[in-house]
Parts: sequence; structure tokens; C-alpha cells
Amino acid sequence: MRRPIVAIDGPAGAGKSTVAKGVAERLGYLYIDTGAMYRAIALQVARAGILVSDQSAVVAHALKTDIILQTIDGEQHVFANGEDVSAAIRTPEATRASSPVSAIPGVRKRLVELQRRIASDGGVVMEGRDIGTVVFPDAEVKVFLTASAQERARRRVEQMKEMGVEADLEKTAEEMRERDLRDSSRATAPLVQAPDAVLVDTDGLTVEQVIEAIVAIHNRRTETGE
Ligand code: C5P
Repeated sequence: MRRPIVAIDGPAGAGKSTVAKGVAERLGYLYIDTGAMYRAIALQVARAGILVSDQSAVVAHALKTDIILQTIDGEQHVFANGEDVSAAIRTPEATRASSPVSAIPGVRKRLVELQRRIASDGGVVMEGRDIGTVVFPDAEVKVFLTASAQERARRRVEQMKEMGVEADLEKTAEEMRERDLRDSSRATAPLVQAPDAVLVDTDGLTVEQVIEAIVAIHNRRTETGE
């Protein structure tokens, strides 16, 4: 029998990565950051000098790019054609490029297949935008994580600071608004809450409280089927 899949979706800066990592640790599950995969493709496409408007060239390049996720010392690393691009995919440029590249159906098809393959035995916490709606519509646990726009921008600025990058709060908020709008309004796999996902608003909650809430949902679902 397949072990459960925990799908965590939501807009940028909602705290998905921190929370998903914590939930995976608590449950002894594998943590999968699907945003890192889209970012890695966007990075490789930009490096190759391919314009996002040239969709068939983007898809051809995506098909040639070997993406591997690997946990090293408790941290998830992403490799593109054997190169560790974990840091390179977090720059503002790669972040900006990830959204238009991920709106291309051929790119999504390739990565969704990969995501399904990685999680075929279950026992995973997968975070992204379309995990509960498209990748695993039958996931046992679905959470839609959100927070106010102000709080999400503040968190993103903090995260950048930890990476040694100074970011302006207003500019970050504006870029997040643009990215969320694009992610929510695209034709293929838009960011929407699955009808059966539990909405968790993280404003005013600590990371521990959010992790606790999701683990409780998981345990209720798997123990009682509720
Ligand atoms: O989660 P993260 O912010 O790293 O994702 C970067 C971008 O990748 C998102 O803005 C979105 O456009 C795209 N993405 C997606 N589907 C996913 C995960 C990420 O379209 N499942």
C-alpha cells in the first residue's frame, strides 16, 4: 500500500518550504520542493540565452535538462545536469524568470511526470502551487497555506537577508504580487485552493504551531480516514 502524500500549496512567501520541511521531519517523510525544479529549468533556459517567448525552444531545453533533488546534511539540493544550482536558483533574476517559464504546458508536463515518479511510493511532503490540484489530486492530506501579503513580503525579505541579500520591502511586495497574479491566472495548473484542501492562514502563528496543525491533520486523516 502506498504511504500518504501530504500536498502543501500556496502563494509565494506563505512559509511553505519551512513548514513542509518541518512536517517531513516530524513524519519521517521525504521533503520535495517543486518550486526548486521550476527555478532550475528557468535558470538553465536563461543561461542558454533562450527567450521565454520561444516556447518550443524552452520546452526542448527543459527536456534536455536532467533535474535531480538530493538531501545533503538535511538540506535539499537541486542539481541541473549534474551541477548543484541550489544557490543560483534563489537570485532575484531566477525567481522572476521562474513564473513565466512554469506557465508553459510542456515544461509542466515534464516536471509533473518527474514529481509523480519521485513520490510513487508515497511518504512525501510535496510543496508547490498545483500539488493538491494536478500532481496528486488524490493526496491524503491537502493544505493550502497562506498569509497576508504584507506578512509574506516581510518573510521573503528576512529570508533574503539570511542569504546575505538586501531586499527592499515595497519592491519585494510588488514582485510577489506580480508573480502570484501570473501563477493564479495562467491557463495551465493555476494556483488555486483545491476544494478539499484545508486552508491554513499562518498570520500570527509560529512555524511550530503550523507544523503541529498539519501533522494533526495528517494523523487524523490516516488514523480515522476523516
Ligand atoms: O515555490 P517557489 O516560489 O520557489 O516557486 C517558484 C515559481 O515556480 C513559482 O512562482 C511558480 O511560478 C512556479 N511553480 C509552479 N508550480 C509549482 C511550484 C512552483 O508553477 N508546483
